[in-house]
Amino acid sequence: MEKERLFGKTLDELKAVAAQVGLPKFAAKQMADWLYKKDIRSIDEMTNLSVKGREALKEHFEFGLSAPTKVQASIDGTKKYLFPTDHAKFIETAMIPENDRKTVCVSSQVGCKMGCLFCMTGKQGFQGHLTAGEIVNQIRSIEENGEVSNIVYMGMGEPFDNLDNVLKSVEILTSDWGYAMSPKRITVSTIGILPGMKKFLETSTAHLAVSLHSPFDEERKQLMPIQTAYPIQKVLDEIKSWEFGRQRRVSFEYIMFGGLNDTPAHAKELARILNGIKCRINLIRFHPIPDTPLKSSDEETLQSFKDLLNSKGILTTIRASRGQDIYAACGLLSTKALVKKEEEPDY
Ligand code: SF4
Repeated sequence: MEKERLFGKTLDELKAVAAQVGLPKFAAKQMADWLYKKDIRSIDEMTNLSVKGREALKEHFEFGLSAPTKVQASIDGTKKYLFPTDHAKFIETAMIPENDRKTVCVSSQVGCKMGCLFCMTGKQGFQGHLTAGEIVNQIRSIEENGEVSNIVYMGMGEPFDNLDNVLKSVEILTSDWGYAMSPKRITVSTIGILPGMKKFLETSTAHLAVSLHSPFDEERKQLMPIQTAYPIQKVLDEIKSWEFGRQRRVSFEYIMFGGLNDTPAHAKELARILNGIKCRINLIRFHPIPDTPLKSSDEETLQSFKDLLNSKGILTTIRASRGQDIYAACGLLSTKALVKKEEEPDY
């Protein structure tokens, strides 16, 4: 019988585990300490639980960490980790060092069903949700564990399409009994799944990032089919009803596609629709992926787009490209691993 994983359980769930195996109630907090605050990898090492209790635990549960199968390091210090998931699929995690910060970009799903035109993960299709444990494991099982300063949910998958597990992982990362990280160090990114975004804004105080990519409905629909179900204007209306500022930030991601969404008319319309929201726009260089007609904006256009937005009072920055020599576009490495796996004969 497959054992359940302890890693990824909340304090309440650990209380239920303690009751199930006959451990005292306070053992839940002890287990949380071992899981999220100490550097151990097995139930046997939970030495303040009784030997009998540990044996009872091991009958039904395992510790539940999983190591990356591959790591690639870029010349700029960025690393990309490849983690196996159930059913021989793969997810990617990026670690991006910058000055004294180490930011980890975690995946929330295996593949993705949202079908954004510019995204390699979208081309894989949806292959499954990650559990809260599999999300937090991407921080715990990398070499930089213990040095991570910031976490962004911008890897594979749409976080609000896997809302419960994402919220649970944020709870583990920010609770006193868990990693006790400040929510100000966590950013969850969405393409604008409205119900999930509302629930996230209600239940967490972590930062929000929204992928915008075009201020024009029809064009955005071509790039991001989600525009049909949740038009960006509705997403912005919801955002306007929340308080953002120093404590909690909202930012907008905008990939610059040459000759498509990088004209002055786009910048002016962006400034118009974002009017009244205290926010920042991150402009992102597009790095072409296979089988897409999209191309990158040139540097001059990128710069003047940024200047135009800044002149309209919207703080706009151009995100530095990192790890280009190691398949930095999200989904490329795992797609490669998946294709390789599928090419291998089944014995
Ligand atoms: S950009 Fe995000 S939501 Fe869109 S297909 Fe890629 S992973 Fe999914």
